[in-house]
Amino acid sequence: MATAWESVRALASGFATTFKHLWRPPITEEYPEYKRPLPVRSRARIILTRDPDGAERCVACYLCSAVCPVSCISMQATESEDGRRYAAWFRINFARCIYCGFCEEACPTSAIQLTPDFENCQRDILKLVYEKQDLLVDHQGKDKEYNFYKYAGVATDVGAKGAHHREEKPVNIRSNLP
Ligand code: SF4
Ligand code: SF4
Repeated sequence: MATAWESVRALASGFATTFKHLWRPPITEEYPEYKRPLPVRSRARIILTRDPDGAERCVACYLCSAVCPVSCISMQATESEDGRRYAAWFRINFARCIYCGFCEEACPTSAIQLTPDFENCQRDILKLVYEKQDLLVDHQGKDKEYNFYKYAGVATDVGAKGAHHREEKPVNIRSNLP
């Protein structure tokens, strides 16, 4: 149990803090005229970025949509003539998004990224459904250099599949077909 002296000391320290702030000049930030610079890793509006060579990074792998805890990402995968996958359409419902950043963490191509731009409130909730053309940007976002297709699916001279240490031979998936 606190003694009388400890109680007085706690009370005095509380009032001291109050008095200290009583004489401080107020700090008022006039938003939206003044916008406080936010850290680059702040999580708000989501974008779909491009490779340094300008191609779409997203390969429509569905990982972001699978990991999203509120199921607000949907898309349909398709392929170009050269076999490169991309999203025929890609949709994010920002009315449901909780800006957790899981989609960015899961993305293998650095395509989907959260930005510090938080000013996307709307009165009409349906305007918060963003389509691919609203999400796709003409830059690389935070990851300037990464180019997924420079590394993925590229044959190397360090041995064929199944030839490495403790690596199993590839399975012939057609052997499972009836
Ligand atoms: S930030 Fe979170 S809630 Fe929003 S789309 Fe990505 S995974 Fe879903
Ligand atoms: S944004 Fe990334 S995780 Fe989502 S489908 Fe495209 S490549 Fe996959």
